[in-house]
Amino acid sequence: MGYNAFVHCRCFQDGKIPRPYFADYICYDYDEDGLTLCLPNDIKNNKDKVIKIENDFYYDWLENGCEHRGMYLVNEWIGNISAMSEFRQFVANHSNIYPTLHQYLPTVNGGTVPAHLAKNLLQELTHIQNRKDTSEKIVLKEVGKDDYITHTHINTQTLFILTSKPTYYFYLGNRGFFIGDSQDYLVFESLHFYQEKLGNNQFIFTDIKTGKNFHCHYGIVDKSKSEFIVNKEQVLISEDFTYIVTPLIKVAKASIETGNPIHWG
Ligand SMILES: [Zn+2]
Repeated sequence: MGYNAFVHCRCFQDGKIPRPYFADYICYDYDEDGLTLCLPNDIKNNKDKVIKIENDFYYDWLENGCEHRGMYLVNEWIGNISAMSEFRQFVANHSNIYPTLHQYLPTVNGGTVPAHLAKNLLQELTHIQNRKDTSEKIVLKEVGKDDYITHTHINTQTLFILTSKPTYYFYLGNRGFFIGDSQDYLVFESLHFYQEKLGNNQFIFTDIKTGKNFHCHYGIVDKSKSEFIVNKEQVLISEDFTYIVTPLIKVAKASIETGNPIHWG
């Protein structure tokens, strides 16, 4: 689950490729889907014909009609739901300098950024890329490893594992690592803890300071014994958001180049 963004190429719009037999029914939906079919009523009444045209359009022509697969000049993975919500929160906190991002970042799949705003979008993204300031983050690390398991910003909490049968929520936030059950009760919290595997789908979490523990059928990692620590770290904002800014810059440039909008998917 997450977000991607695409910009259509102009091969069909500019007549650079042969017109298919259904060319008259192809329209451009600037608010949602991009290249799509707009069939007249007399064809809509003929179910067989509709199915034939739709199959030829969606499964063959759009996919292979030009050198750009799917007729996407770019089609980029932007981020998962928590990555997007973290970025959206950052942009909201600086909405005076990032007004276009603030208005147009998606909250649901679908929708577009009009092409005439792509230049503003690119300027705002470049501004983030060039920032030299840092922000404080909360990170969860396995002791002895450089990479972190997950991270979150101060004053937010991130759900990073959701288990089923039974349901538990693994969070990282100001209070550290914590687990909530399906009734929203806090069943474990810690800033420094062990996770031990006792058997198949059997783990025990132990807070090192208090010795309090919790048995769970799911672990953060699948290892016999691991030690975890929650720390605060300063990270460069530009680096922190590289994962999302880089693909967004690509789609903004494609939108400027083609004059076509950015579609959120
Ligand atoms: Zn193309």
